[in-house]
Amino acid sequence: MAHMTERKCKHRKKLFMARTADVNRGWAKFCSKSCKAIKQEQRTGQHADFKFRQQIRDANGGMGPADFQREYGGTPVFNRNGEYQGFMGGGFDNTLNQNHGEN
Ligand SMILES: [Zn+2]
Repeated sequence: MAHMTERKCKHRKKLFMARTADVNRGWAKFCSKSCKAIKQEQRTGQHADFKFRQQIRDANGGMGPADFQREYGGTPVFNRNGEYQGFMGGGFDNTLNQNHGEN
């Protein structure tokens, strides 16, 4: 039987028993996998999304994804730095498809 330690879930503040070995490794922060997934989504998903929209506006003189969409009528595509690359749909897509074999 493994040694167990009482831990408090970082998502629901619920007490649960975790393996002491996992606690010592810095694991066992959540009572269940679903709590971990929800918490990580809150941290990485929504927050990263917000930061990236801000980055896009910074890189494009205050224009955000919705502004590009209104302007060009497609789904705007941005690189990792938030710089506008083009848009999906219409002629842009066809150009990409024609070049597909060269990749
Ligand atoms: Zn939990």
